[in-house]
Amino acid sequence: MRVAAGLILASAMSVALTGAARSQTPAAKPAAATQAAPAAPAPAAAPATAPAATAAAPAQPAFPPPPKQAPQPARAACNTPGALGVARTVEIDTTGGPGFGFEHFKELDFLRDKEVVLTFDDGPWPKNTPAVLKALADECTTGIFFSIGKHATYEPEILKQVYAAGHTVGTHTWSHANLNNKKLTEAQRKEEIEKGLSAVKWALGGISPSPFFRFPALQHPPEMVTYLGNRNTAIFSCDIDSFDFKASKPEKVIETVMKKLDSKGKGIILMHDFQKHTAEALPELLKRLKAGGYKVVAMRAKFPASTLPEYDQELLKDVKLPTVSNRPVNSVVTTVSE
Ligand SMILES: [Zn+2]
Repeated sequence: MRVAAGLILASAMSVALTGAARSQTPAAKPAAATQAAPAAPAPAAAPATAPAATAAAPAQPAFPPPPKQAPQPARAACNTPGALGVARTVEIDTTGGPGFGFEHFKELDFLRDKEVVLTFDDGPWPKNTPAVLKALADECTTGIFFSIGKHATYEPEILKQVYAAGHTVGTHTWSHANLNNKKLTEAQRKEEIEKGLSAVKWALGGISPSPFFRFPALQHPPEMVTYLGNRNTAIFSCDIDSFDFKASKPEKVIETVMKKLDSKGKGIILMHDFQKHTAEALPELLKRLKAGGYKVVAMRAKFPASTLPEYDQELLKDVKLPTVSNRPVNSVVTTVSE
């Protein structure tokens, strides 16, 4: 029943997102060449940290090693007494594609009692994502943002803000396709994963995000779980699903999360920075977490994701890239009479 309901919701959401993508297509602004962090160097030829080869493992396809790039900017120092804050930061070695979130993956029980991980899907999106960023900043806390590739190409500046604020950026496919959809070929499923990653890297001005991935609607086709394992990408399900995309008002988001959390005692919370109600609910929800004695854990990847060159190229066909000129519009177009 849970699965059936999920499928229905997933397709409804997919339609909603597709509709949003079609009807609300701000012209993709040129990626600002001036990213605070230095541009990522080209992937080094030498493997960085060679994953230990398991004796019994079959021959795996060769994928590029993780790129070497400047460390992500740190979160701002917290000057807010009594803020929720970040209790603990964990580093994840994503070799072999570990799974997190007990709704689907039960091997890695790393959270202590009362610990939570905040996760936000489907952004970046105008207004709502910046509101989520503000709420997190006000409480000196952090989360993982699983970005949709298309949305990243619409709003690269917002995704850059997410990264610059020190939050973890993961990916969530190119177009939010349900990868369990039998109409999709294996090549199309891989393209959803890889082009989504290439898009997020492009939006971040060439900086690779974390090899953290969440399947749309938490639909996990086994062959893609294996594929992500070979791509050394961690897979995130959740422990507490806020069902915020169904909520009729912000209070409902808070109620659902707190009720499930008080029952389970800890967990990875799934929300959507794409959703207005979530953005509105977050300040109060974070206060409630603090009052309830919950502590936020930050999750970082040990090494960044490596995009595949063919999908980086494929992406360029979909993005209106700046060609030779990077100049802002007001330096190119001047009103001379009105
Ligand atoms: Zn989603």
